Amino acid sequence: MTTLKERVIVLTSYERKSLIRFLALYLGSVFVLLAIIGYLFFENNRTSMKSAMKFEMMYQGRMLSSKIIMKAMKEKKLDQNTTKHFLSSLKHCRFSVGYFDKEQHPIYSEIGSVGQFKPDFYMQNNCCYTVIEDPSDHLGVHYVVLKEHELLHAFQQLRIKIIGYLVLSFLLMGVVGYFLGRLFLHPVREQIESLDRFIADTTHELNTPISAILMTIQSLKDIDEKKKKRLEASAKRLHVMYSSLTYRFEGKEEKIEDLCFDKIIEERVGYIRELIDSKRLHLEMMLEPTKVHMARTSAERLIDNLLSNAVKYCDVGDSIEITLRNRVLMVKDSGIGIDETMKEDIFKRYKRANNERGGFGIGLNIVLRICRQYRIKLELESEKGSGSTFILTFPKYKGSSALQCL
Ligand code: ADP
Repeated sequence: MTTLKERVIVLTSYERKSLIRFLALYLGSVFVLLAIIGYLFFENNRTSMKSAMKFEMMYQGRMLSSKIIMKAMKEKKLDQNTTKHFLSSLKHCRFSVGYFDKEQHPIYSEIGSVGQFKPDFYMQNNCCYTVIEDPSDHLGVHYVVLKEHELLHAFQQLRIKIIGYLVLSFLLMGVVGYFLGRLFLHPVREQIESLDRFIADTTHELNTPISAILMTIQSLKDIDEKKKKRLEASAKRLHVMYSSLTYRFEGKEEKIEDLCFDKIIEERVGYIRELIDSKRLHLEMMLEPTKVHMARTSAERLIDNLLSNAVKYCDVGDSIEITLRNRVLMVKDSGIGIDETMKEDIFKRYKRANNERGGFGIGLNIVLRICRQYRIKLELESEKGSGSTFILTFPKYKGSSALQCL
């Protein structure tokens, strides 16, 4: 069963849908592209910052080591305190430093504990370490260790900066994409608008001849009854089509009133009786008195469209069942049915699922719009080849008029 929730089936909804699809695709690919660029940029910067740090730390470490060697060569013997004093006075720029003997005991150290004494450069616990080894143990110093803890912070700042730039670029691309999408949709909108204008102008010209035909038929006397009925059925069918087309374009304020929906169904069925008879359709009606609060033209358009579709999409000898019970209207036919894949689309304007039987593809869109306006739940059950049932559930009647539907 297809439940048609409150969806606006007007041009802007097509636009919105296409725009959303376009934007999703566009922004999705922009996001992936920006993420890849951002990642590569971050990795590239991280590697160069790391090697710059390594280079600087190694350089500083070697400078300290050579200063110790020079001191050891100048002064053959130094006591423990003087060595400590000398080591603490060595300038070593912005790094923390530690001097360790062969057994890895500190001689002088600004570093808490050193994880490993592996030479060269390594990162551990969010810090960078450089270890310079002096195998000759000048002044008893075997390892010069430098420690730095700012690099990870710098990475973090770089990451935030890149994410910030990415978000900004993404938003910018989103705005550009939105306007691009609207630009591409413009010709489609223009085409549909011109189609609307064409139909509005054409239907305007139809009113007078249709009314004239209907009036003339009434006054015809010396004519075979069968031929007269056929003429009348065709003229009424034209009139129903005309009413739907003008309803679509008129958009004028309608008077909302209390109506007996069962009576309106009877009236509309009576109006197209000749059409039903001309196809020899079996019509069954079970109508419970039902009060509704809506505009008469809307109620008529609702029934006319469902009924004329049922007649149109039935073959000769098929049957139509109309039931109105517990505020649920069912228009069931044993006609050609609707393909599962088309069930949602046929409610869109100008959408048709059948090219053999004439039409404009606006009837069901009108039905959907009216249902939407009056909060009527619209459902469709159909199977290709076995007929269709349109189910309309009316909201609770809240009025208090004295209208009697018995
Ligand atoms: P039209 O009948 O003018 O094409 P509608 O908007 O009334 O336009 O219907 C849209 C499409 O839905 C039709 O082209 C037809 O394929 C399908 N349809 C509507 N009602 C029925 C029905 N009772 N049985 C089978 N198909 C239907």
